[in-house]
Amino acid sequence: MASSPLPLTHEKFNLEIIEYIQDLGSCWRCAMRFTREREPEAYQRKIVDLKQEPEEKLLKTSPCVICLGLIQDQFINECITDEIAQHVIESDYDSPTFACMVSLPIAIMLREQAVWFLTTEKFPKLLSPNFTVDHVTSLKDVWKFVFSKMLEFKLKKKLAHSSSSFQIQVSVLYPDEISECGALVDMCPEKFKHRYKQTKIYQEGIFTRNAAHCVLAGMSSTNFQKFYSLKVPNVNAYYGAVQCFHTSRHIAGRYQKFSRKLCQTPWLIEGEKHMDTSIQELICQHLEPFFKTQSVKFSSSGREDVDVRTLGLGRPFAIELLDPHRTLFTQDEITQVQSSINSSTDAIQVRDLQLVSKEQLSRVKKKKQKIYRALCVTLDGSTLTAEDLIRINGITELVLMQKTPLRVLHRRPLAVRPRTVHEMKVTLLDDHPGHFILRLKTQAGTYVKEFVHGDFNRTVPNLCILLGRPVDIVALDVDAVELDWPPALFN
Ligand SMILES: [Zn+2]
Repeated sequence: MASSPLPLTHEKFNLEIIEYIQDLGSCWRCAMRFTREREPEAYQRKIVDLKQEPEEKLLKTSPCVICLGLIQDQFINECITDEIAQHVIESDYDSPTFACMVSLPIAIMLREQAVWFLTTEKFPKLLSPNFTVDHVTSLKDVWKFVFSKMLEFKLKKKLAHSSSSFQIQVSVLYPDEISECGALVDMCPEKFKHRYKQTKIYQEGIFTRNAAHCVLAGMSSTNFQKFYSLKVPNVNAYYGAVQCFHTSRHIAGRYQKFSRKLCQTPWLIEGEKHMDTSIQELICQHLEPFFKTQSVKFSSSGREDVDVRTLGLGRPFAIELLDPHRTLFTQDEITQVQSSINSSTDAIQVRDLQLVSKEQLSRVKKKKQKIYRALCVTLDGSTLTAEDLIRINGITELVLMQKTPLRVLHRRPLAVRPRTVHEMKVTLLDDHPGHFILRLKTQAGTYVKEFVHGDFNRTVPNLCILLGRPVDIVALDVDAVELDWPPALFN
């Protein structure tokens, strides 16, 4: 928006303008907007005392030629804010503040432009190079000046002057919108030709504020008046849907997974759930009712296979709560939600559950090293020798070339990826001949199972090559995800 010049100060000049615009059929508030008056109080008076309206004018019930009755005393009543407030109260948001968006008919832009041209012709001084129709105090602002106190009182919330995460969207409709906007098409058929053809793409309608702005910008008065002349409206504008929305909140924590039969996220095959539940569902079924949200987005630093456990401090995860109705809570209350998650299942445990900022979220997706513990077995039943152990345990920073594993080829592109095993350590299990524990510290994205059995030599080198005999993996645990986020909590 262009920066606004100071209001016109010459009171007599102001009065003349107001009088002229009212004579065109405007309400006193719209007339005053053209004087660049920006003081809310100036619009909150019941009846303008700048110009005493003759009685017959007060009784006149034609809607204002600009605002279509929206901020016109004769069309304002308590019910308007009652209906908006009722809807917001039923939506049950706990935000102490609100922002208010009013979407106005495009016809009002045309009408404002028409009055602007008529007024600047009458008062050429208005046409100083730095004062344009964009500097007229906006109807949206004046709507808020008039209604915000009533709304604040009824909602018991404060109107936020900068920004609020909670938005109330009020749409204003006008029955003659389409027919009046036809003038825009006449002014610039090119602009709307393809919009008429592709109504599916332009779901917000053929006419948008942007399109109208493009057509009107830079148009001369003579040109404009060829296509549009100001008429008293037959009907007034009315209120349509009220919509409420709160911006997302984000929760993070760590989970341990003790089950070898649990997916991280719902496993859907052709829309059907393949397994009873998932880590995401076990956690979110407790978060959704607490935050009064209908939908969530789950993300985590990597994911384990269904049959892999995640132990140690667990795997960091983050959940975006979309349009939460509840946003006021304490850390104690979140910790209680964590307790109810943990007491509802043996398959997972959650820790460090906490509110985080959106800015912190990128950290959950940072690539990090992982520490694994694998139970392995030699397929020929042989036991590893002391020399095998010394050789394997001495290997560091081993670079593997991993061709996409056969088991994930259906969902990942075929490629050869270099991945580094930073350290490895083998411990024999004396009671179980041929079995041993392999501890690995690897780069993010390393396929550990394939490193052990080789995946038909799609991963090289692999443990079979390093040990000179066939080896397989029996079970795998993630012991640590080396990410110091979210901060540990004492709970
Ligand atoms: Zn008006």
